[in-house]
Amino acid sequence: MKLILFGPPGAGKGTQADKIKSHYDIPHLSTGNIFRYNIKNETELGKKVKSILDAGKLVPDETVVDLVVDEIQKPEYKNGYILDGFPRTIPQAEALDEYLASKETSIDLFLNLEVPEQELIDRILSRAEGRSDDTPEKIKTRLSVYHNETAPVLNHYEKKGKVQKIDGVGSIDDIFGRIKDALDEL
Ligand code: AMP
Repeated sequence: MKLILFGPPGAGKGTQADKIKSHYDIPHLSTGNIFRYNIKNETELGKKVKSILDAGKLVPDETVVDLVVDEIQKPEYKNGYILDGFPRTIPQAEALDEYLASKETSIDLFLNLEVPEQELIDRILSRAEGRSDDTPEKIKTRLSVYHNETAPVLNHYEKKGKVQKIDGVGSIDDIFGRIKDALDEL
């Protein structure tokens, strides 16, 4: 099963991806986690993207697409994956679709986690993960990047009939229950 877990910053993508991963045994591929790991370990990639993540802006499409395409070719992803934080722009979505089409496959489902804006801000400010981009000013930048560059990706997959909307308000288990209902229908 190839899933895209989509939604604004603070929607709970990481939390729900972990639950999907344990329940369905599908690997979780978070581009944000990969970048943070590389920054922590001071790799070449980490040095290249650190100031971008710190500012709450987007890493260039080519860098992200190369990274994801390399990653999903690894054997652990051969039966599927949960993409979290990717694709985040229309060019990224097009590159992903093209790559999958070249392998005669496609995304099975695009889950859109819907959460009101004020709740997103409250959640990010209270999650205290120590992320350098979780300050009020950076959250503002990330939400505006989301609205301008990322939200159109939803429309792109809506046109393909892949989108399932998930109410992202409630307890972690309530929200996971809604996701399970959507996945069990596949
Ligand atoms: P996330 O953990 O998904 O919130 O991502 C954290 C940060 O990593 C983002 O604010 C971007 O700077 C960068 N990032 C993660 N995924 C992408 C992507 N698909 N395209 C561009 N930048 C990304």
